[in-house]
Amino acid sequence: MKIYADKLLTMTGGDISPGWVEIVGDKITSAGVGFPDGGNCMSLRGYILLPGLVNAHCHLDYTDCKGLLVPGRSFAEWIAQINALKRQRTSEEFLVSIRTGFDDLVRYGTTSVVNIESYPDLIASIDSPVRTWWAVESMDVKRAYEYPGLPELRAVSPHAPYTASPELYMESKRLAEETGALFTSHVAESVDEHDMFLHAQGSLYVLMKSLHRTPFQTGEATSLKLLLKGGYLPHGALLAHVNFFDDEDLALMHAQGHAVAHCPQTHAFFGRNIFPWQRMEEAGVPVILGTDSLASSQSLSLFDEMRAFRSSHPGVGAQRVLEMVTVDAARALGMWGRIGQITVGAEADLIAIPFPENGGRGACPFSAVLEHSGTVPFVMSRGRVLRAPQL
Ligand SMILES: [Zn+2]
Repeated sequence: MKIYADKLLTMTGGDISPGWVEIVGDKITSAGVGFPDGGNCMSLRGYILLPGLVNAHCHLDYTDCKGLLVPGRSFAEWIAQINALKRQRTSEEFLVSIRTGFDDLVRYGTTSVVNIESYPDLIASIDSPVRTWWAVESMDVKRAYEYPGLPELRAVSPHAPYTASPELYMESKRLAEETGALFTSHVAESVDEHDMFLHAQGSLYVLMKSLHRTPFQTGEATSLKLLLKGGYLPHGALLAHVNFFDDEDLALMHAQGHAVAHCPQTHAFFGRNIFPWQRMEEAGVPVILGTDSLASSQSLSLFDEMRAFRSSHPGVGAQRVLEMVTVDAARALGMWGRIGQITVGAEADLIAIPFPENGGRGACPFSAVLEHSGTVPFVMSRGRVLRAPQL
């Protein structure tokens, strides 16, 4: 099939106005300017066509937790709240939560997601509508952890340096290196984590002490520095949050090829200081965006995340922000040329939003994307139309 739109945002080679793409199977096989000749064509007049968005950090297990948790006085308090909720949930309820989350992702134009999964037994029961890195979450607070077989697309996720031991990090690294699995982990997220590792104090330190768990050394270095300098991360890891770092950490993250998943709405929920994006950008550490879960975020919409990022970083251009959820994310996930761009040979993961006539020919399409609110009328994942406007 062919799809025509008033504008194609390729994300790699400027825009094409108007233009079309041809889809065969799950790939984009050709593209051109103007209206295509002949063949089965879906006409998206008045729309911008762009690559489907990539969510770099998500926990669909907690989709049904929206509005149930408060930031609390400490991160340890928030962890206690979510652990209490988890204990009340049945497997069937988690399945419903995950499926509802996928529906939301599709509704808001996400076609690839890194989903941290605490209950890998459930994965076989889910028919994911979009490209999903099922990141099997591991921790060994109470007992030793053994990874199950990794599902497609493979990913491992030692939870965080306060819940996963050095041994578990090394085992996760070994698995990632042997299988090519994505390695992702929560690192340097909260003040509590910072205080625990650098100063051996604070609520998280007290909580983990009470569980007889301070797996990494405390009192000398931050968790990020311990991981970076101790060889616990494979090349090209995806580190979630990283709200605390210094110049040495930046240099090491760059040298080791790591990217950072930043979740703007969650960042705001916890009332954190403005994320120091500019320093990462200047150090060549890619920052890509995720929604985290509805236990700390308002929505699973990357449009909302882009707007939240822009509101705290008003000097960053709309195109640059859109790159974070398309081409930059593709590169960080080892999918350059396949997702996050409209090019011949790329996967047919596409979305379209209205490009209002009154925006005029001079209107910035990137700004139009960032300003788009509500659901996304056209969504194609791997060549399958999941949502289509009433034309
Ligand atoms: Zn997370």
